[in-house]
Amino acid sequence: MAVLSAKLASAALAFILVAASLGLIEAREAGIGIGIEIGSRGKPRQREFDYFNLALQWPGTYCQRTRHCCSSNACCRGSNSPSVFTIHGLWPDYNDGTWPACCTRKHFDEKEISTLLDPLEKYWPSLSCGNPSSCHEKHGTCSAPVTGDEYNYFLTTLNVYFKYNVTKVLNEAGYVPSNTEKYPLRGIVSVIQNAFHATPKLACRNGAVEELHICFYKDFKPRDCVVGSSSSSDVLSSSNSCPNYISLPAYASLGAGNAESKLSWVPDDVL
Ligand code: 5GP
Repeated sequence: MAVLSAKLASAALAFILVAASLGLIEAREAGIGIGIEIGSRGKPRQREFDYFNLALQWPGTYCQRTRHCCSSNACCRGSNSPSVFTIHGLWPDYNDGTWPACCTRKHFDEKEISTLLDPLEKYWPSLSCGNPSSCHEKHGTCSAPVTGDEYNYFLTTLNVYFKYNVTKVLNEAGYVPSNTEKYPLRGIVSVIQNAFHATPKLACRNGAVEELHICFYKDFKPRDCVVGSSSSSDVLSSSNSCPNYISLPAYASLGAGNAESKLSWVPDDVL
């Protein structure tokens, strides 16, 4: 299945590149927008992004989807599983809601970020056992005009994450993890607006916060995630997978601190 989707994805990419070489300047495919420009040597290259989207995940919600474990999945760390918003990615985005991906052929090299591995494992863990993206630096390569090389992309992301500490801001306002409380979406949004002077975007699953995005201009000053979101109805409709009252589930241990006991373990290379 994964192999099939990889084939479909590469066929789609090939199609986009052919269309671009025929002079189609912009293409959109399956929700992923690829702004393509023709480079000086006649090769297609993606135009530079407009802003950064720091996508955060709430493990208390995300980990409820875990059906099997692998060594790379932080949901399977039992009592050491993350209890804060963790980083999903620092995504370079276009203002029209699309985004570039895999901008150069540069491959991810773990050696370049060896000194960052501890904080990355803690705050930017994988929460699934899925395959990595088709290219190894899907977002980092497209951020390069601003963030530079691989090391600086990861370091910058960690710095922004620590500076704009969403978990701390929410906890201090009384929005703490709970398996019984429901909180007003409007309240959560306004606490973040007050703290960062910008409007976040939320995504929910079954009424629980799964993702929270905060956005930045290219100089890392906060900006609204939704363009032109001055009215509160825009803000709420942009988070339309969320009901008016939402939960922030506490991490439910996947088998009382012993994830292996309830979940099947599947080695990474089988997935
Ligand atoms: P999902 O379907 O889980 O929302 O997204 C799958 C992947 O698509 C993400 O891990 C991310 O790499 C990419 N993606 C989804 N939404 C966005 C977005 O708004 N901006 C960018 N740059 N990438 C996104």
